[in-house]
Amino acid sequence: MIKAGKENWEIYQEMGISKEVYDYCDKIWNSLKPRWEEIDILSEYNQLKVIHAMQKNQVSEACLLGTTGYGYSDLGRETLERVYADIFHTEEALVRPQITCGTHALALALMSNLRPGDELLSPVGKPYDTLEEVIGIRPSKGSLKEYGISYKQVDLLSDGNFDFENIRKAINEKTKLVTIQRSKGYQTRPTLSVDRIGELIAFIKGIKPDIICMVDNCYGEFTEIKEPSDVGADLVVGSLIKNPGGGLAPIGGYLAGKKDCIDNAAYRLTSPGLGKEVGASLQALPAFYQGLFLAPSVTANALKSAIFAANLYEALGFSVVPNGKESRHDIIQAVTFGNPDGVIAFCQGIQQAAPVDGHVTPEPWDMPGYDSPVIMAAGAFVSGSSIELSADGPIKPPYAVYFQGGLTWQHGKFGIMKSMQKLVEKGIITKDFGKRNL
Ligand SMILES: *Cc1c(COP(=O)(O)O)cnc(C)c1O
Repeated sequence: MIKAGKENWEIYQEMGISKEVYDYCDKIWNSLKPRWEEIDILSEYNQLKVIHAMQKNQVSEACLLGTTGYGYSDLGRETLERVYADIFHTEEALVRPQITCGTHALALALMSNLRPGDELLSPVGKPYDTLEEVIGIRPSKGSLKEYGISYKQVDLLSDGNFDFENIRKAINEKTKLVTIQRSKGYQTRPTLSVDRIGELIAFIKGIKPDIICMVDNCYGEFTEIKEPSDVGADLVVGSLIKNPGGGLAPIGGYLAGKKDCIDNAAYRLTSPGLGKEVGASLQALPAFYQGLFLAPSVTANALKSAIFAANLYEALGFSVVPNGKESRHDIIQAVTFGNPDGVIAFCQGIQQAAPVDGHVTPEPWDMPGYDSPVIMAAGAFVSGSSIELSADGPIKPPYAVYFQGGLTWQHGKFGIMKSMQKLVEKGIITKDFGKRNL
């Protein structure tokens, strides 16, 4: 029998982890066992939720075959959309390989449910960077603004709470849709729990019941036993190369919600008159189904990796969001280094742990949709997949890195150890770390 300890240490050493870093990390990992148990219980619940939805809709071998051409009567596609609707407890869902990424899914939801003269409100501060161009906060071709859709934003209070008073003031006769981002994205605000989202939706519906409440659910799926659609959201939206794709979906996005909202989106995605009836699934369905099946446990592995990172970097004296003890509502871990070197070293360490492209060195670059250079570590089987172990950091203050994923916790743990090793080698973590805070 292999005993953890000496034998494990030997393979880590072969892979470039020093004994000091190994020992430090091992102590932290072992102190977290009660958290691992909690997460196992969460993933057990969500695994059964997924199986229940698959059985209820009689997913069969025939569902794994794709269609080509127009894609009329695509049994696998239609069944998968029923499965998603049941998991999210919504009337309908749209789950398609033609939705190219999370931004596209969100843009689709917004552009199809808003009309000229309507107003969009974000009551939780600035949305994810790429949505700035969708909305037209930064001028952009094809933005909502170009179509005469206005935008209002109410920031969170400095303590992270909702600014109820100003949200009430911001809602007017034009307010048609409210967008609530569950995850922190590239910010250091706390991620919203499903319960807090429910509280916000109840408040908004109390002021104007017919407002469409949409949740940007990216990175949040399966991190709790409830989803925002269980607490009043009319529409939840996300990417299949994050949590719900389970690491296997090679592309895609989903929307789940009220029939009306989904119909609008389907007619915008394909064409008025065609809607959900077309859109060949090609060869995507086996990965969509199997990825969804794996998603609760893959998400749990990502959560374990994030919690390990939080506790390790907290012990090393860096500021981390969420902190080591907090409950989790998404898979993202922010670590603030305060300087570009820390961000770069961290990402290079993560890259060195990758199964694909582990030999390459990431550098900061200007990416479409972002307003500063970004460094991204991603040694992924699916290009850009961020349910796989990945890290990215915009090169701008406060010089925080956003770490997420890990299809297996073993890989997540190794990646974090590699990042620490890199920071030690670059002299960013000084030699006395072994004596600190443990
Ligand atoms: C990733 C993400 C998006 C955009 O998704 P892409 O697939 O990168 O286009 C939007 N919102 C949040 C909160 C995200 O995490």
